[in-house]
Amino acid sequence: MIANPIPWPNGARCACAITFDMDADSLIHISRPKDGHDRLYPISMGRYGPTVAVPRILDTYRKYGLKQSFFIPAWCIEQYPAAVESILRDGHEIGHHGLLHEDPVETRGERQQKAFETATEIHQKRIGRKPRGYRAPVYNVTQQVIDLLVANGFQYDSSLMADDIPYLMKTPSGTLWEAPVHWGTDDWPPFAHYAEIDYMMPVKAPSEGLKAFWEEFDAQYEAGGFWIGIWHPFLTGRLARWRLVDQWLEQTLKTKNVWFAPLEDIIAHVAKVTADGSYSPRVEQLPYYTRSQLG
Ligand SMILES: [Zn+2]
Repeated sequence: MIANPIPWPNGARCACAITFDMDADSLIHISRPKDGHDRLYPISMGRYGPTVAVPRILDTYRKYGLKQSFFIPAWCIEQYPAAVESILRDGHEIGHHGLLHEDPVETRGERQQKAFETATEIHQKRIGRKPRGYRAPVYNVTQQVIDLLVANGFQYDSSLMADDIPYLMKTPSGTLWEAPVHWGTDDWPPFAHYAEIDYMMPVKAPSEGLKAFWEEFDAQYEAGGFWIGIWHPFLTGRLARWRLVDQWLEQTLKTKNVWFAPLEDIIAHVAKVTADGSYSPRVEQLPYYTRSQLG
């Protein structure tokens, strides 16, 4: 059902990545710039991520020997050094996720360039290297962001939705891999309840919300594809939900032939099999449009 499945290492049937966007309380500061600093309830909801959920998530990864990816706004890297240090100590990847979770569609031109570059410098300073991957806050990639990623030597983006499996994007200035996401494996719809940013969905029971992700996994596994979770520590890292994720991981690792890896490793593998001619990725040509289509 997937036209050109990727040959995964060691004959694995499916590549898997749980990616956590550690947004913490950046969301309230960026959405309510005037008084976000004095809205204690959403601040506390966000702080639960780096302080309580991340240690729990890392415990599980350690137990099963998993290395995974985290995307963190650079402001959060500076604000929560203990969480960042423990993620790095365990060998996980940290990708670029904006400066203060600014939405590229709302922050265009020079402001976007400045925020992007400042965030990259903070990565360099605090993590010791330039990030290889990027996820746009709220997935809102613009052509300017794609051009910035190419110009700054990024290997991949993980915000777009044009395929089930990683694909290549070609632009006039270079190429960029895409590790595609979609809303079916994002924890915002089932678990977020956040009036301050106009998101008021009924919160699902842990088993019900997670069931959607497991069904997505089953389809990808059967097709020899790529399963990715786009989750947030303050949502899926909550006690009852993570308990079920831990159980699912144990079961899946025991019974299925899967390859869990950080996105940078998955993308490096796809790039390698493409370079040696054993695989031919699907290509999306960018920019999609250079002007409004309204005539
Ligand atoms: Zn985010």
